[in-house]
Amino acid sequence: MSAGPVTEAAIKTGIPVENPATGETIATVPELGADEIRAMVTQAREAQPAWDAIGFAGRAEVLLSARRWMVANAERVVTTIVAETGRPADETQFAELAYGLSALEFWAKAAPAYLADEEIQSASPFVRGRKLVVRYAPLGVVGVIGPWNYPLNNSFGDCIPALAAGNAVVLKPSEITPLTSLLMAEMLAECGIPEGVFQVATGGGETGAALVDEVDMVMFTGSVATGKKVMARAAETLTPVSLELGGKDPMIVLADADLERAANAAVSYGMNNSGQVCISVERVYVEEPAYDDFLERVTQKVRSLRQGPPGEPGSVDVGAIIFPPQIELIEAHVRDAVERGARIVTGGKPTEGLPGRFFEPTVLADVDHSMRCMIEETFGPTLPVMKVGDPDEAVRLANDGPYGLQASVWTRDTERGEAVARRVEAGVCCVNDAQLNYAALELPMGGWKASGLGSRHGPDGIRKYAKRQSLMITPGYAPPRELHMFPYSAPVTEQVAQTFNALVTSDLFTDAQRQTLSVLCDTLIPSLPPPEGEADPTGFWARAASHLGVPEAIEISLLQSGACSPARRRSSWTACAICSTLWPRTGWCPRRRRRRARRSSKASPIPDLTRSPGSTP
Ligand code: NAD
Repeated sequence: MSAGPVTEAAIKTGIPVENPATGETIATVPELGADEIRAMVTQAREAQPAWDAIGFAGRAEVLLSARRWMVANAERVVTTIVAETGRPADETQFAELAYGLSALEFWAKAAPAYLADEEIQSASPFVRGRKLVVRYAPLGVVGVIGPWNYPLNNSFGDCIPALAAGNAVVLKPSEITPLTSLLMAEMLAECGIPEGVFQVATGGGETGAALVDEVDMVMFTGSVATGKKVMARAAETLTPVSLELGGKDPMIVLADADLERAANAAVSYGMNNSGQVCISVERVYVEEPAYDDFLERVTQKVRSLRQGPPGEPGSVDVGAIIFPPQIELIEAHVRDAVERGARIVTGGKPTEGLPGRFFEPTVLADVDHSMRCMIEETFGPTLPVMKVGDPDEAVRLANDGPYGLQASVWTRDTERGEAVARRVEAGVCCVNDAQLNYAALELPMGGWKASGLGSRHGPDGIRKYAKRQSLMITPGYAPPRELHMFPYSAPVTEQVAQTFNALVTSDLFTDAQRQTLSVLCDTLIPSLPPPEGEADPTGFWARAASHLGVPEAIEISLLQSGACSPARRRSSWTACAICSTLWPRTGWCPRRRRRRARRSSKASPIPDLTRSPGSTP
């Protein structure tokens, strides 16, 4: 394990870590400064090439071994998270342990496919015969900066694809919940990750800022305000950033929804982790005919929630407020709503009689968009429910605000639900579900508007940790001079102009026909003897003809010669095309030869793209 080159100064300015459910200090972690961060990144930079060199299989071995470690140490992982978040173990197991286990396996197995070389096909005749490839290479050292609400998912979780891609990672977890990240470092070290490849830099905002200065890419999860600072700082060194920021997820309940399911979901996905979820249901819009019934169901369910310090499995539903200032923010949102005319249906204040920090699960009615609780991120166990006239009003209100992280639409008519979902300005929108999309690691997740930049999961969830390089490999037997190379000549320029005109206006061949023609040319031309008088010293005749633009030449020659009527072109296009190609060299096409003789005085030159300018056709 590496928790960084910890100096005495770092320990002296150590940060106490509190259990928010009890108020006890459970650990102290060092506050690392800029010099220590620089030393860690230097170590990471030295370790990274060997980590890259062991390849996907070698890295997968470490990640899958970590998965086995996590299963064997599940209780320790859950206990650590519970201790620094004050959240029930049941929820921690569903939301974080399960995610960690699946992410370790997913990225270990998906990385080779998502980062495999991609062969590119180009429509341009100019690059015929070239091999076009996109390849992915690791960036080097990735800095991951995480928030306090999900210490495993949103801190270590984002390191897994970065590591699988061959990068070294320095993780700066939130100073509020750093212990899980330190445990993950211990896990990887026990599972054989080379020294320096994964390190945890504990500290606060300044430690995070110092990390931004040193690394090759920043993966940041946190608030919009800090995200902007991170992006501005990264701009100083032109370091790429991926930002997963806050949200204000709307839930739209249409009149025909299954109200029992919608109400259960509103309460679960609005109150889990005490509402401290970036993709929490933060506000609800209910179509008028369903409003009273929905509000009643939600209120009953919220009233029956059990709140308190985590206990035996099944004993507590809603846990603590992790971040001390958060409790004042939640209270301020409720107070502001009430001052502007909202009604507290249940809850509404910090919970009394419990150790630690808790806020009562709260339902607000008679809310509108003049209130902070409908526009700003509350990040607490509050559910403001607003009546709307129709889906259009719901969509308009859902889109009113700076955020665009996630949303959900609830209706029995999934087709209609999908149509509404497509109108919501959010990076993810679920129909008859919420939050669960996070478990689908194949499905990209990222915010629109102020909710972020880039995404996690899916192909981009790992490609963002890679440099992309495009390769164009031209065969060694390519002609010594290409059509477009110096010196320019008037006939060639004229010819190219005619070629463009001809191709742009042509509907002679469909793409499928062109493809067939390419294959035929590839097959036929190399099998022919070189034309009389040509020794074929450069191997031209033996080359794959379609690589050299012959299909385009055929099409153009057909177009320009007028040798075939449109009807005949379509019915016997293959024969015509092949003859047209071969005729300049073999004289195989009698029809063409006759016409050529007739029109020799006025014929426009047939473009032969297979030849370099100046060579004799
Ligand atoms: P935050 O922005 O206060 O802090 C996030 C991290 O940034 C912490 O590690 C902090 O130490 C560090 N930091 C602070 N100042 C910094 C600076 N100047 N330079 C570099 N790093 C700095 O966020 P938070 O309060 O820890 O987390 C809650 C927020 O995170 C909420 O807005 C929530 O919606 C969001 N969040 C988003 C997602 C997502 O996937 N979109 C997931 C979880 C949380």
